[in-house]
Amino acid sequence: MPDLFVDGEWCAPVAGGRRAIHCPADGTLVAEVDEAGADDTRAAIAAAHRAFHAGPWPGTPARERGDLLLRVADLLVRDKAELARMESLDTGKRLVESEYDIDDVVGVFRHYGRIAAEDAGRVVDTGNPDVVSRIVHEPVGVCGLIAPWNYPLLQVAWKVAPCLAAGNTFVLKPSELTPHTAIHLMRLLTEAGLPPGVGNLVLGAGPDAGAPLAEDPRVDLVSFTGGLATGRRLMAAAAGTVKKVALELGGKNPNIVFADADLEVALDFALTAVFLHSGQVCSAGARLLVEESIHDDFVDALVARAERIRLGGPFDDEAETGPLTSGAHRDKVEAYVAAGLAEGAVLRCGGRRPDDAEHPGLAGGYYYLPTVLDGCSSDMSVTQDESFGPVLTVETFADEDEAVRIANDSIYGLAGAVWTQDAGKGQRVAGRLRMGTVWINDYHPYVPQAEWGGFKQSGTGRELGLAGLEEYRETKHVWHNIRPAEQRWFAG
Ligand code: NAD
Repeated sequence: MPDLFVDGEWCAPVAGGRRAIHCPADGTLVAEVDEAGADDTRAAIAAAHRAFHAGPWPGTPARERGDLLLRVADLLVRDKAELARMESLDTGKRLVESEYDIDDVVGVFRHYGRIAAEDAGRVVDTGNPDVVSRIVHEPVGVCGLIAPWNYPLLQVAWKVAPCLAAGNTFVLKPSELTPHTAIHLMRLLTEAGLPPGVGNLVLGAGPDAGAPLAEDPRVDLVSFTGGLATGRRLMAAAAGTVKKVALELGGKNPNIVFADADLEVALDFALTAVFLHSGQVCSAGARLLVEESIHDDFVDALVARAERIRLGGPFDDEAETGPLTSGAHRDKVEAYVAAGLAEGAVLRCGGRRPDDAEHPGLAGGYYYLPTVLDGCSSDMSVTQDESFGPVLTVETFADEDEAVRIANDSIYGLAGAVWTQDAGKGQRVAGRLRMGTVWINDYHPYVPQAEWGGFKQSGTGRELGLAGLEEYRETKHVWHNIRPAEQRWFAG
């Protein structure tokens, strides 16, 4: 069966080609999929445009749209095992992590299913009895949704669910590296009753399959999650037709450990913060800031634990983390570490691929050992650039002010954490960090009911739709003069 989904039909590309998807854990072929060229994406945009303007989706009662999302949530639960397996084969991540991810996806669809019909607008008191004035919400229109490979279906869910809840139509382009769960989602949307043309799927590389979404005048909104360089390009391309743009970009997130923290727990979480999913997490705590007085003991213990982390494939029950997503990505991580060492960082562990004698069975995958670089400072590229790999940089600070200054010394502002048993200090520091999310004595959790988004160059603000529907709706003021005959200006 072909893999593009346009206007309610599975179709082969007119202009694109085929791509072999390999599992990053061992290089085995997962499947070959169709890929769109620019003309295929334009055909998908045309379908979404027709479906928006001819209906019925934008005019479907919000409660019914919400019901459809709740049905999708049930179907996701039904297919959880299959989806988790697909996600692990595409990404190489441990099956148990993929299972958590699918649970999160279900939670996102349930959240938007429930809130779809909330907030129908309001009446404004104009002070004029002859006027009825209402504020109403309407969908934005055709949305271009572009997602990355690290949490493939979850990132897609964050966009698709609120987009549909608000009554929009969409063209989705998942990462070319991880297409399978997005393909399955389109089947589930169809099974749940989504009308033809409302949801369309194109697969393929960004410049071919994705770029038209930012350029085409029929697209009203682009929601993109991915790297900073791509985000800048998309924002510039979308300016030509003044689209609404939502960018969720990278991060270089500080994890600040004060001497008065519960250090055993802080140590565990420092490892999770940076080595979960081999560091391929936008909010990864890749920049450890540790108070000078505890640096030596804390970093020694951290290095000892990092060296014991067990790498392995998705179906290895003893693996604690998996491979990087591709050979090209591992090359980037290696170049990043080499630059750090050239700048004077001190390699405490890792810094290379595992060798077969120590770690048998990993040679076919894109593995990289958990790496700790000590002796770093804010003026090094290694503390400023996002590696998106299992690499932790270590810096020290003397006091609260210095911790805040170093942590904020970044073009990014996605997330960060503070570890201290002094609640007042935790709140003070959290209040001064220029980041969209700050955890105190925790790392990584999020809930769809909360906000998610980056300050500074981590994005345009809140992830479109996480929490509410505001960003996927236009707000319209309807002013109805019910006695115009009595208000004529030049009546004489
Ligand atoms: P990427 O920017 O390379 O690609 C992201 C998506 O954009 C892919 O689907 C890709 O095909 C597409 N794309 C690339 N060039 C394009 C173009 N010219 N036009 C249209 N689409 C284009 O990013 P990636 O490597 O897939 O993901 C990793 C990045 O994503 C990291 O920087 C990470 O921090 C970021 N990320 C951020 C969040 C967040 O919530 N802030 C979440 C996950 C990932």
